[in-house]
Amino acid sequence: MAFDALGLDPKILDALDAQGYTSPTPIQAQSIPILLEGIDLLGTAQTGTGKTAAFTIPIVQHLLEQPKTNRRKIKALVVTPTRELALQVGDNAKRYSKNTGLRTAIIFGGVGQNPQVDLLRKGVDILVATPGRLLDLQGQGHIDLRELTHFVLDEADQMLDMGFIHDIRKLLKIIPAKRQSLFFSATMPKSIQELSSQILKSNYQSVRIAVDKPTAERVTQKVYYVSKSEKPSMLIHLLQEMEGSVLVFGRTKHGCDKVVRILDKKGITAAAIHGNKSQNARQKALKGFKAGDVRVLVATDIAARGIDISGLEYVVNYELPNVAETYVHRIGRTGRADASGSSISLCSADERDYLKDIEKLIRADIPLDEDHPFTEGAAEEWAIPENRKPKKQGQRGPRPGRGGGQRGGAPKQGGSRGGRAPRRR
Ligand code: AMP
Repeated sequence: MAFDALGLDPKILDALDAQGYTSPTPIQAQSIPILLEGIDLLGTAQTGTGKTAAFTIPIVQHLLEQPKTNRRKIKALVVTPTRELALQVGDNAKRYSKNTGLRTAIIFGGVGQNPQVDLLRKGVDILVATPGRLLDLQGQGHIDLRELTHFVLDEADQMLDMGFIHDIRKLLKIIPAKRQSLFFSATMPKSIQELSSQILKSNYQSVRIAVDKPTAERVTQKVYYVSKSEKPSMLIHLLQEMEGSVLVFGRTKHGCDKVVRILDKKGITAAAIHGNKSQNARQKALKGFKAGDVRVLVATDIAARGIDISGLEYVVNYELPNVAETYVHRIGRTGRADASGSSISLCSADERDYLKDIEKLIRADIPLDEDHPFTEGAAEEWAIPENRKPKKQGQRGPRPGRGGGQRGGAPKQGGSRGGRAPRRR
């Protein structure tokens, strides 16, 4: 199928052509016809599938079909959980509506509101916003949602994880009941399904893009057993062997800053993005990374969720996530669209259960690479049973030498995958 079979406005087709898109991605091919019909949509898909264009293109088409006299009133609202995602979705909307005269504005917290208020005053057709600032400006009378015809909730699972449920409920009371609603989530647990039923009309249609498996398949994965204390050395060792940009994931804000300091000392340009950084610092880091001035971006999951870095080849899981789905989101930062990528995980003894959960979710074993200089330290760490207990976030591991020595011992080599201990070299 080609885009021009969808009956889209030539201006949109030109914009897609300018992007170099030749054919719709699966989520686009399935969603665009449903959305053009005006039907509500429940999409199970994550970023990397082309979902932003899947919902933006039909919205732009519908807005172009509305009378021109209706311009500059907010008719489409996209709500995203993070500022980075808002910027990205807004950027997509601007690109796909290029030369149409439609205006897109992006608003989020953490920065002064005045430039955003100025933009809103000039009139906006498509508004992309994070929930807090949206309600704040609406409360102050800067945002009028009465003319809204399209409502998109993006990354709904992340939205609930971040505690935005009350904001969403408030928002639903403000927006017109007569609207087309689009609801996207990477995962669909019960709580998300319940929320979707409050937003979508009963005749909604579902599109499910099982991206987990293809992403996992497209991305070359590898795991190294490394002791906690030797992870910095291992990361430096890996960075010396890799070429190009690397996105490193940490679990905590503090941990990310620490990695940046260690890399800085070794002369490796690195920057961190996480919730404690100001919006300007985050944008600067992301921009530097995309431009190639910063080689290593160290991020927490929330800060990196949804960000699209084209051509990114390596993702390093410096710390494994304690929620298996997060791993799939992380490795989805590389291997986007048709590109391939590599994901490298450093697994310490206390993270072995996380690794098992991940392998269960992706229904595959992540190949273990024991060819590295830090296998001995890993074997020593693993030999102490106490070290193998998952730590709660922020909890410190036992100090070296404590915890019962070889008691219980390391499981024998060659046992079942997931129970295999690191080999001493
Ligand atoms: P998204 O899932 O919306 O974050 O999109 C993932 C990436 O795919 C972005 O870099 C888009 O620019 C790109 N993309 C979206 N639609 C297409 C398409 N039809 N052909 C090629 N690339 C696309």
